[in-house]
Amino acid sequence: MARVVRGGIDLGGTKIETVVVDSRSQVLGSARRPTPTKGGPADVATAMVAALKDACQTAGFASDQLRGVGVGAPGIIDPQTGAVSTALNLPNWRDSYPLGERLAEAFGTEVRVGNDVQVATDGEFELGAGRPYRSVLGVFWGTGVGGGIVLDGKPWIGRGGGGEIGHTVVRMNGRRCPCGRRGCMEGYSGRAALEARARKLVEEGEKTDLFKLMQKHDRPRLTSSIWARALDQGDKLATALLDEAYEALGNGIASAVNLLDVEAVIIGGGLGIRFGQEGADRIASEMSPHLYHDLQPPDVLVAALGDVGGAVGAALLVRKTARR
Ligand SMILES: [Zn+2]
Repeated sequence: MARVVRGGIDLGGTKIETVVVDSRSQVLGSARRPTPTKGGPADVATAMVAALKDACQTAGFASDQLRGVGVGAPGIIDPQTGAVSTALNLPNWRDSYPLGERLAEAFGTEVRVGNDVQVATDGEFELGAGRPYRSVLGVFWGTGVGGGIVLDGKPWIGRGGGGEIGHTVVRMNGRRCPCGRRGCMEGYSGRAALEARARKLVEEGEKTDLFKLMQKHDRPRLTSSIWARALDQGDKLATALLDEAYEALGNGIASAVNLLDVEAVIIGGGLGIRFGQEGADRIASEMSPHLYHDLQPPDVLVAALGDVGGAVGAALLVRKTARR
């Protein structure tokens, strides 16, 4: 009997990660393509199809053998139809676009679309660092800071907009967040906010090697690897900004734990994975003074599924399709 394989796609602002998994969610093949920065949703969908076809090739399957494709996407998602709107970090993606339908046509199978951060949290809960627990908080520290919640074994997204831990207020009337509000955790710790802050400080005359490193390594932005390099070199500005980022993460995550009392916090995302368990330990120590029940802190762990975690989690959306 032919093996039943599913596809998973994690649609990010900078890259599209894809996997092909078997019935036990083991990764058989994976591929990555950059997210188009020009054009519109149709161009992004075309790149997603190409990336998943690449993954099928590395896994040694034809793309028409996929029994279901799951997608984790940013923006506002209609889980019934797979339409996506207001994905503002993707090119010209404000209006609703029938992403699920387009991919279903391309692969000739059922496609389900979920929230990127929630599917990544579900993936960690079921297959990664969250396996020993019933209740976890996923914190995805990357360009922005996203959150996913699993309570007593079930994902919690509220009325569809839950998990926005990045917009927890850590300072009243504080710094402007990329969302436009003031004092959000993301405004002090998200990669985009850190970069904007670094630029502003350089304009004001402060010194840093961050932008030299960016040019030297031919990156269009201050990626997680550029931040890591600057830290390794002892760059003062980078160190100060990340100290502040850790402090903000400690404040915001501790507040969420005071409310939810989850057993574990799982740290993922580009920066989270880059700084690894050492970064997670630092977040735990920054949380510590703010935990009300400080004698029973949650475990704070780095995401175990790594860069493909979002795509593997997305593939869980179509487990039932594969069983048919
Ligand atoms: Zn915000």
